[in-house]
Amino acid sequence: MKILVINAGSSSLKYQIYDMTDESVMASGRVERIGMDSSILTHEVPGRQDMRDVSEILDHVTAVKRVVDILVDPQHGVLSSIHEIEAVGHRVVHGGESFKQSVIVTPEVKLEIRNLFDLAPLHNPAHMMGITAVDANLPDVAQVVVFDTAFHQTMPPKAYLYPIPMVLYRRHKIRRYGFHGTSHYYVSDMAAKLLGKPLNEMKVISCHIGNGASVTAIEGGQSVDTSMGLTPLEGLMMGTRSGDIDPAIVPFTMTKEELTLSEVNSMLNKHSGLMAISGLSSDMREIVQGMDDGDKNATLAFEMYVYRLRKYIGSYAAAMNGFDVLIFTAGVGENSDRLRAAVCEGLTFFGLELDEELNKQRSREARVISKPGSRIQVLVVPTNEELLIARDTYELVREAEKVQG
Ligand code: AMP
Repeated sequence: MKILVINAGSSSLKYQIYDMTDESVMASGRVERIGMDSSILTHEVPGRQDMRDVSEILDHVTAVKRVVDILVDPQHGVLSSIHEIEAVGHRVVHGGESFKQSVIVTPEVKLEIRNLFDLAPLHNPAHMMGITAVDANLPDVAQVVVFDTAFHQTMPPKAYLYPIPMVLYRRHKIRRYGFHGTSHYYVSDMAAKLLGKPLNEMKVISCHIGNGASVTAIEGGQSVDTSMGLTPLEGLMMGTRSGDIDPAIVPFTMTKEELTLSEVNSMLNKHSGLMAISGLSSDMREIVQGMDDGDKNATLAFEMYVYRLRKYIGSYAAAMNGFDVLIFTAGVGENSDRLRAAVCEGLTFFGLELDEELNKQRSREARVISKPGSRIQVLVVPTNEELLIARDTYELVREAEKVQG
């Protein structure tokens, strides 16, 4: 079975086509600048030279048409006919409280995703455009939606409610939802496989540390708490996002600096975090380089970033009454041995012993980086949200086919 995975943004669309017989990626690529002049399609096939094409792609329907065309192109394609695509899986950021797992797209599912536009105004409308574009180009192909929030729907009310008037939850569903759920689930499942232990017998703290960053407490295979909240702004200090701050800073800053709500929103999302403290960059590579060059602000930014992450790990250890496994994933978590070493240095009282050599080794494989005798096992697990989307899509479509006989 060949599964097409799509991650549609407002002006971009990323895709991968998987052969599910061995879960290999046959081709991947992206369309950028949709709706602008000179849209760019980049198409990659393992073992072949990348293809780049600049043309006018005015909407998502045309973008998906171009993707389908390139997949069956005699020179650049990997499929003999579009009928080889048996299902399409979409990443959807917000599933609200309605979606606790991935589902096959139906008219009711589309309506519910539309109802959630308010909770993810930048993301869900774009995902909907992706779904509609597949409807237009591949009308007979089943579609599945996989939600970033779904994995966190197991959180108990004490973790997902905010201590603010309950009427706000009842009326507007203001609560913690959490994000990166597909990644947290994927890496915790991989960790259990690597360690040869059932996930439902483990207490895991999973750190997804990329441009956006979140930590999740996973007990018995279920998310019991996570650091992002109603939106992906809460929690850890990130590249350009503040993470947790005193909420009173918002009205205080608006008054003192005469800022509008949208300006404060932009400040906290785009001009805070590593970028704001270092004054240098939001990219961890440049922060580490700055530290090595003796830049005091870069050093402070790194220390704050590590300190805040370590505090979250400590609080989730308390939330679960201990933990067995600590996982690092995503751009920073997978690649920065400096970050991992600095975080683990302050966690030795848990009986966590990092192996310095294993931590420094570079690899694309999931691996243990703690010492053999360490009470807590520390792992680096490269995340793969697209593969999980392909797997969920494959499973749901196969089940539906069985039911239909
Ligand atoms: P992601 O959002 O998961 O794609 O992560 C992207 C971020 O990972 C970049 O902005 C960098 O800050 C970080 N990153 C990538 N490679 C490295 C590296 N070798 N060392 C430190 N940080 C890295």
